[in-house]
Amino acid sequence: MRLNADALDVLAAHGLTEAQWARENHYADGRWGGDACGCPDDRCIGFHHDEHDECGCLPALLDARGPQV
Ligand SMILES: [Zn+2]
Ligand SMILES: [Zn+2]
Repeated sequence: MRLNADALDVLAAHGLTEAQWARENHYADGRWGGDACGCPDDRCIGFHHDEHDECGCLPALLDARGPQV
């Protein structure tokens, strides 16, 4: 599973790469194991939201991290 372009944009806006986001979500090898939208749940698209809807999980998770120093 690779992150989609929207997810990468959102992560980049928070200064994160795909590998960093993977590690923050306990994919220790830096390979993303969640869904393409950036949610760590690999069944987000089609379950948490429709395929063409924005993911609400990723921005919520990023907000919950709080500011990183
Ligand atoms: Zn989700
Ligand atoms: Zn999602």
